Amino acid sequence: MPDDDRVDRKKPLVTVIPFGQTPVIAAKVIAAHISGYLNMDAETLPSMPIPPDALDGERLQYNAARIIETLEAADMTNAFKIVALFDVDLFIPLFTHVFGEARQNGRVAAISLYRLSIHADGSCPPSDRILERAAKIALHEMGHLLNLLHCADPLCLMNFSDTVDNLDQTPFNFCRYCRRSLHRALASP
Ligand SMILES: [Zn+2]
Ligand SMILES: [Zn+2]
Repeated sequence: MPDDDRVDRKKPLVTVIPFGQTPVIAAKVIAAHISGYLNMDAETLPSMPIPPDALDGERLQYNAARIIETLEAADMTNAFKIVALFDVDLFIPLFTHVFGEARQNGRVAAISLYRLSIHADGSCPPSDRILERAAKIALHEMGHLLNLLHCADPLCLMNFSDTVDNLDQTPFNFCRYCRRSLHRALASP
């Protein structure tokens, strides 16, 4: 078969980077979900130091918006999209905390395991539950990076979850509408 018969277009690449003490296994699980659910190539990098200016000295939390700006300016990989993974508490100014943050159609998403590592009652979930939550957040933020907005369907990953209980009730699923938008975004990256 001649080579030009296989219009083997390269899939867009997503780079998942663990920062600080974040376990590399979490980055690998997220990369596997991104390549499995979104049909994109995903790689992980070794962990990197947290950008020092991300720490807000008064709140003692890390500013997710500043992290995203810093990483977009650093242009550290040639990836189409970058998922930055943290184990410290992230916030954006209007909220007490965020599980993850990404600009619509942006290049970098920031995600934190910090709030995923406790149940609403204060007890600790098993590590596979934490990884499952992190993968759901990552797919949600990837949706934003691929131009999706929030979705009203509670069974869709683009539904806004502000508690881990909400997140646990959300299946690994994009609704038909969001799936169509994802296909459109990925058809012309
Ligand atoms: Zn969102
Ligand atoms: Zn949806």
